[in-house]
Amino acid sequence: SPSSTVVTRFAPSPTGYLHIGGARTALFNWLYAKRHAGRFLIRVEDTDRERSTDEAVKAIFDGLSWLELFADEEPVFQFSRADRHREVVDQLLETGHAYRDFTSAEDTGRLRDEAKAEKRTFESPWRDREPTVDDLALPHVVRFRRPKATTVTVADEVQGSVSWSTEDLDDLVLLRSDGAPTYNLAVVVDDHDMGVTHVIRGDDHLNNAARQSLIYDALGWTRPTFAHIPLIHGPDGAKLSKRHGAQAVHEYAEMGYLPEAMRNYLARLGWAHGDDELFSDAQAVEWFDLAGIGKAPARLDFDKLAHVNAHW
Ligand code: GLU
Repeated sequence: SPSSTVVTRFAPSPTGYLHIGGARTALFNWLYAKRHAGRFLIRVEDTDRERSTDEAVKAIFDGLSWLELFADEEPVFQFSRADRHREVVDQLLETGHAYRDFTSAEDTGRLRDEAKAEKRTFESPWRDREPTVDDLALPHVVRFRRPKATTVTVADEVQGSVSWSTEDLDDLVLLRSDGAPTYNLAVVVDDHDMGVTHVIRGDDHLNNAARQSLIYDALGWTRPTFAHIPLIHGPDGAKLSKRHGAQAVHEYAEMGYLPEAMRNYLARLGWAHGDDELFSDAQAVEWFDLAGIGKAPARLDFDKLAHVNAHW
């Protein structure tokens, strides 16, 4: 049935070129969708208007085209959906899962510092205060009213079951004072509306999965299946950086690497299938599974990549 169709997505922020880590995330999502005869979608997360550029959008699509990772539908640009995001915030306000916070940025900073010094989670005084008609005319943010004194558990396909006490998460901002939706809200609304069933992304987003899960629950929406993959490290085990070598996919294209070799190498970066080193796209699609993704960061090995490339 259509409701059981797997839908994955790659959701880059267009603030730079497509790097190795992003390319691997895109590939894993593409492989998982193909493996299950599902759909692979692309969403450009351009809500940060200051940092998003047209050049970056182009660079990311060029990189994906070179790797032949094409989406099954037209790409979605997140910023164009801001009205829909605000509509969902209204829904959360109506059901009491969100509230308007009139605290000034300055006072918020002060209250945050106080809470930190007292080792408690910051809480806006507006969480339990009813605004008057006069208040409503003033600038404010909208915050999520998280459930208190409970646990949120994410059943992650890679990390296992991970739990947070909601006492440790604050009431995150959903709408800024200029009406701009924030990342965690936009991601939930878009993934839901796009019918995304599996969210496969870097484990730097694991904490966001807890926050996003609370939003799904408040809206009565089914959470997607999450799979948070460890980030890529350099050959020395340190966080990947420029000194390790080329980071951008286009640099490999310029050096004459073959997209097939790149896909083969990236598929193996953090995902294992027996001892197989070299395999075709068809084999990768046939074999790819979330269970084969390791919990430890994969190490980028430039010699191995060159070796794979030489065999193609
Ligand atoms: N736009 C986010 C990023 O580039 C990814 C968000 C997501 O995959 O949920 O880090």
